[in-house]
Amino acid sequence: RPFDLSCEVPWRVELFALAEDEHVLSLTLHHIAGDGWSLAPLVRDLAAAYTARCAGAAPEWAALPVQYADYTLWQQQVLGSEDDPDSALARQLDFWRQTLTGLPEELALPADRPRPAVASHRGGTVEFAWDASLHAAVVALARKCRASVFMVVQAALAALLSRLGAGEDVPIGSPIAGRTDEALDDLVGFFVNTLVLRTDVSGDPTFQELVERVREADLAAYAHQDVPFERLVEELNPVRSMARHPLFQVMLAYQDSPDTRLELGGLRADVQPGVRNTAKFDLSVDLSAQRTEDGSPGVVEGVIEYSVDLFDPETAQALAGRLERLLAAVVADPDRAVGAVEILDEAERERVLSGWNDTAQEVPRATLPELLAAQVAATPQAVAVVFEDTEVTYAELDARANRLARLLIERGAGPERFVALALPRSVELVVAISAVVKTGAAYVPVDPEYPADRIAHIVEDARPALVVTVAEVAQSSPAEAIRGGFVLDAQENAELLAGYPAGELLDSERLRSLSPAHPAYVIYTSGSTGKPKGVAVPHAGIVNRLLWMQHRYHLKADDRVLQKTPSGFDVSVWEFFWPLIEGATLVVARPGGHRDPAYLARLIRDQRITTLHFVPPMLQAFLDDPSAADCRGSALRRVICSGEALPGELRQRFFAVLDAELHNLYGPTEASVDVTAWECMPEEDRRNVPIGRPVWNTRVYVLDAGLRPVPPGVSGELYLAGVQLARGYVNRPAMTAERFVACPFGPAGTRMYRTGDLARWGAEGELEYLGRADDQVKIRGFRIELGEIETVLAAHPDVAQVAVVAREDRPGVKQLVAYLVPRDGGAAGAD
Ligand code: AMP
Ligand code: MG
Repeated sequence: RPFDLSCEVPWRVELFALAEDEHVLSLTLHHIAGDGWSLAPLVRDLAAAYTARCAGAAPEWAALPVQYADYTLWQQQVLGSEDDPDSALARQLDFWRQTLTGLPEELALPADRPRPAVASHRGGTVEFAWDASLHAAVVALARKCRASVFMVVQAALAALLSRLGAGEDVPIGSPIAGRTDEALDDLVGFFVNTLVLRTDVSGDPTFQELVERVREADLAAYAHQDVPFERLVEELNPVRSMARHPLFQVMLAYQDSPDTRLELGGLRADVQPGVRNTAKFDLSVDLSAQRTEDGSPGVVEGVIEYSVDLFDPETAQALAGRLERLLAAVVADPDRAVGAVEILDEAERERVLSGWNDTAQEVPRATLPELLAAQVAATPQAVAVVFEDTEVTYAELDARANRLARLLIERGAGPERFVALALPRSVELVVAISAVVKTGAAYVPVDPEYPADRIAHIVEDARPALVVTVAEVAQSSPAEAIRGGFVLDAQENAELLAGYPAGELLDSERLRSLSPAHPAYVIYTSGSTGKPKGVAVPHAGIVNRLLWMQHRYHLKADDRVLQKTPSGFDVSVWEFFWPLIEGATLVVARPGGHRDPAYLARLIRDQRITTLHFVPPMLQAFLDDPSAADCRGSALRRVICSGEALPGELRQRFFAVLDAELHNLYGPTEASVDVTAWECMPEEDRRNVPIGRPVWNTRVYVLDAGLRPVPPGVSGELYLAGVQLARGYVNRPAMTAERFVACPFGPAGTRMYRTGDLARWGAEGELEYLGRADDQVKIRGFRIELGEIETVLAAHPDVAQVAVVAREDRPGVKQLVAYLVPRDGGAAGAD
C-alpha cells in the first residue's frame, strides 16, 4: 500500500494479534520521514511511550535540541546556491563531476540472466555471517592501514566483483548517515545520503595497496558528502535507463552494532526487519557488526539483497561465500596481489579444471589414409560418392586416389609438405583430397571462387610442392600459380594417371614415413586483422575429431552425408572424411548449390540426405524458404550447426519446420573443426543455445586475464587444450606463440589455444558462448618479444613452437616460462 504523500501522514501502524499473549506491531515508515539510523531513536521513543502509558501516564520525552525543519533550513544555508561558485554546493558538485568522469555506465556482474529493459525491482535475500575471528582480523587490518572496517570490506567487495568480470573501475554505492552534528542523533527523519565510491582496482594492486586507494577515495568522498544523491544524478546526467540504478548498481552498507533493542517493560520483544521482496539495486550487501560484552569484535551478520531479474538465489549465496573466502585470504596476506587470490573453492576448481574436462578416451594412433584404406577393404562395392548423375564406389574412388597419389609423390608430395587444391566441388575434388592425404602431404584447399589476391597470397605463403586443378579453373584463373598447376582432367594427364598402379599405397612408397603428428590439411582463416594465415592441423587432431563424431552420432552404411561446405572452410573436412571412413555415402552438392535453399531442399529429398551442416544464417535462410517444409518426413536425421552463435529463436523455428535432430558444435579451425557439442531439445527454452561440453581428449578452460579459472557463471576467455590443437600457423612462429600458449594446467609442454572467444560455464558444466573477446582481454603482464621467438626458432630447426606463459610465483615476481615444443610430437622442455 503506497502512501499518498500529498495528504497522508507518512507513517502507518497496525497491531496484529497472533495469540492472546503474542503480537506483532507493524510500523511502516515512508523513507521521506525516516532512515535506517532513525530506527534506534524511534524504538527508544516507542519504549518510553509504552512504559509511560502502561503506568497510566503520558510519555515524557526529553526535548530535542533541534527539529527536522531546523535541519532542512541549516542544510540549505550551508549548501548555498548552485549559482554561487563559492557555495559548498557548487564546490561539491565540482568535486563529483571530476571524480566520476568516465564512470562505467553499467557494471558487468556475473548475472544468471540478461537484464530486462525495465527492472521489475523484485528482490530476494540471502543471509550469511562472518565469525568473530574474521571480524577481528578485518578490524586489525583496518587499524594497520589507518582505514575503517568499511573501507577494508569495500576493497574486498570491489576486488571480488573485479575478479568476477566487472572490470577495474568499480563504483559502489554507500549510504552515509548525514548526521554530521551530535544534535541530530536523536531525530527521526531522512538524513541519509548516498555516495558513489569509485574503486580503482587497476594494475593488479596488492590488497593493502587497494585499501590505501579506497581510503584516499573515501575520505575525499566523505569531505563532499552533502550534495544529495538525486541532485548529483541530475547534475551528472548519466545515460538514463529504466533497467538499472544510475551511477552504481551495487550497494554496500556496514553498520557497527546498531542498537535497536526494544525494552518494553514486562514484555519480551524484539525488532524484526520487514519482509524484503524488493531490490532497489542489482546487489546490495548489508553488514551489521556485533560486539561482544567486553567490546571486542563479535560476529558480522550479513544480508545480500539481489535483483530477481538478474540472479538466482544460489548465485547470490555463492557470491556471499566468495566474499568471505576472498576477505579471509586478503586479511591473512594483504601483500598478495588481489588478482592472485583464489576465488574458487576446492570443489569448484576441481570441477572446472578436471571434472568437466574429463574427456580422456583411447583413440587409435591412426592417420586419415589408414582409416580410408580400412573402409575400402571393408566395403569396396558400396557407393562412396554421388555427384549429379555420377556414382563412384569405394573401390573406384580408392583406385583413382592411389594413382594420383603415386604421381604426386613423384612430383614431391610427402609428409611435412603441402599440395594446393584449386578445384570446384566435384568427384575430382574428393579424389584429389584423398590422394594428397595418402601421400602424407597436407592438402591446402584454394576455393576457385576466392578473389585473385587471396589465391595468390595462399599459394605464395604455403609454398606448396604443387598445385592441382582442373581445366575449367586453370583457364580462367587470374592466379599464375593456378594456371600453371597440374590439370587433373587434361587428356594427357588422364592418360598419364592411367599408367600408375591402383593398388593400396604403402608407407614405404612415401618420401618419409607418415606419422599422426604430420599435418593433414592447411586451412587459411582470415582473422580480424592482417592477411589470411594457414592453420596446419595434424592427423592426430582430425582423426580424434572424426572418431568422436562417429561415437556421438553413429553414422551407418545407409547414411548419406551432404557435402556442401566450400573446401576452404574446415567444416568440409568432416563432410568429406566422416562418411568415407564409415562406409556411408558422400553426396556432393553442385558448385554454388550451398547458397540455394530450394536446390538444397530438392537434393535432401531426392538424394535421401540424412546428415548435413548449416551455419546459422544459412539455416535461417533455408527455414525461411517454403521448400524447407518439404523435407519434413524425408530421410533427414540430423542437422549440425556451427560457425556462429545459434539463437534460441532459430532452434524453435527449426523444430517447427523439421523433424530432425539439431546439434550445436563449436570450435576454431585451430582445434580441428569443433571442440564442444550440444544437442538441442525442442522443449528447451534457453535464450542462447549452449555450445555444450568438450569432445574426446579435449580440455576447455574459461580464464581471466591472469590465466586463472573463473567460477561457473562468470565470463572469461575460452582456452582449448588437448589432442585437437593445430600445429600452429604456417610460417608464422610469432603469431603461433601468441595464440598457442603454454598450458598452466597440464604437464610441461602441453599447450593451450587462446580462442579470443568469451564464454562461461553453466551450472551443469555446459558452456555458453558470449561473443568475441577481441582485444578486451589481454593476458596480464604478458608481452612476447616476437623478434626473439623468431630468432630462437631460426636457430633450432627441430623446434616446432615456442609456447610462453607468464606466471606470478611470488608477489610481484613475474616469471616468463617458455616451452620448446619439438616436431614429431616428442617430449617438450621448459626453459
Ligand atoms: P573458424 O576458425 O573460422 O571456424 O571460426 C571459429 C570461430 O567461430 C570461433 O572462435 C567462434 O567465434 C565462432 N564459432 C564457431 N562455432 C560457434 C558456435 N557454435 N557458436 C558461436 N560461435 C561459434
Ligand atoms: Mg569452424
